[in-house]
Amino acid sequence: MTNETAFEAASTVIPGGVNSPVRAYRSVGGAPRFLVSGHGPYVVDVEGREYVDLVCSWGPLLLGHAHPAVLDAVHAAVDRGLSFGASTPAETELAEAVIARLAPVTADGRPVIEQVRLVSTGTEATMTAIRLARGVTGRSLVIKFAGHYHGHSDGLLADAGSGLATLALPASAGVPAEIAAQTLVLPYNDPAAVTAAFAEYGDRIAAIIVEAAAANMGVVKPAPGFNAFLAQTAHDNGALLIVDEVLTGFRESAAGWLGLEPVAADIVTFGKVIGGGMPLAALGARREMMEQLAPLGPVYQAGTLSGNPVAVAAGLATLRTADADVYARVDDVAATISTAVDEALSAAGVEHVISRAGNLFSIQFQYTLAADYAGVQRQEAFRYGPFFHAMLEAGISLPPSAYEAWFVSAAHDDAAVSRVLEALPAAARAAAAATPA
Ligand SMILES: *Cc1c(COP(=O)(O)O)cnc(C)c1O
Repeated sequence: MTNETAFEAASTVIPGGVNSPVRAYRSVGGAPRFLVSGHGPYVVDVEGREYVDLVCSWGPLLLGHAHPAVLDAVHAAVDRGLSFGASTPAETELAEAVIARLAPVTADGRPVIEQVRLVSTGTEATMTAIRLARGVTGRSLVIKFAGHYHGHSDGLLADAGSGLATLALPASAGVPAEIAAQTLVLPYNDPAAVTAAFAEYGDRIAAIIVEAAAANMGVVKPAPGFNAFLAQTAHDNGALLIVDEVLTGFRESAAGWLGLEPVAADIVTFGKVIGGGMPLAALGARREMMEQLAPLGPVYQAGTLSGNPVAVAAGLATLRTADADVYARVDDVAATISTAVDEALSAAGVEHVISRAGNLFSIQFQYTLAADYAGVQRQEAFRYGPFFHAMLEAGISLPPSAYEAWFVSAAHDDAAVSRVLEALPAAARAAAAATPA
């Protein structure tokens, strides 16, 4: 089997040959690599080729592939049974671990997270957070930012309408205009746009939802004070702030991005690292907020596989293993690789800037660092495809889109990092030679 034949077979029975569109190679061209295994910093495809993996399952694999502590915990859980549809003590331990990690993040002297509900995907976590915010405030509208991704629930697949502070339009076929119109899509890092939206719709806005640091349009860091401004503005207007840490949570630090920049969040969503590679996500808030959820409160939420014992075992083992040394290594590897990317592109004369937020980074093929989605889209993205393929040819697997963050893990040892550094000069020359399609 080759990647091409695997892709052909998949495309016959799976739309586009992929079960999530980010896996498709549509923006870089070619057949996606079909993988059969992973170990440490490496993945292996159906042709037996090994790649240094800088996707890391889009974030969950903070410890790398097949970490022994995580596999042992999963094997032990599997041996006890796959699912009970009933509570298990490990769910409490995971909730306690999340609360303990977030304990330094306080507002008015109280931790922002006192209770946690486990769900299976980040999409469910943000969807539930919004329902909870609407239930608590009795309001309908939600502010989100252009280029931020919060999963694929209807109301969050919305694009800005024309003009500032106008209700949003569907960003996908199948999303009713009436549902998209419950969302306001604003430019990121633009406090004036937020102020204008509250001036127009203040008493109808239930919540602002924001990625703790934007990393789904490539990486775009929040401007200093922007997250705090969102909390203050929401609270001044009787609305809530939902901080989406699905991607950044437990990756940027032990307490996620909030560990680097504490903010008075009302609800925080988690995913990716919290499941260590298994389907697991969560939302957390203060007790009185979380007790508005069923079965105690009027806001309904449920899940047959929520808190699945195998997923919880993987998540707990990941969080227990992710100590200060792990975060130091991840930061170090990210700094080494991103600096080398910067130097290689400079040496090849490619117009670029490296956009960083903590240990997450991506390339912008332009000289001015963009602070919002419109700015990110001005880059010469056509340079990414040739760069990507030159890296792939050299055995390095990058995200197959210029608009995604690069992910490293604590398993990226010096040998794996060296392989990345050695591949960069040729890839940078390929980016330099690229021409617009
Ligand atoms: C990945 C992601 C989601 C959605 O999580 P899924 O598990 O893919 O549903 C939500 N928010 C952010 C910030 C994400 O990066």
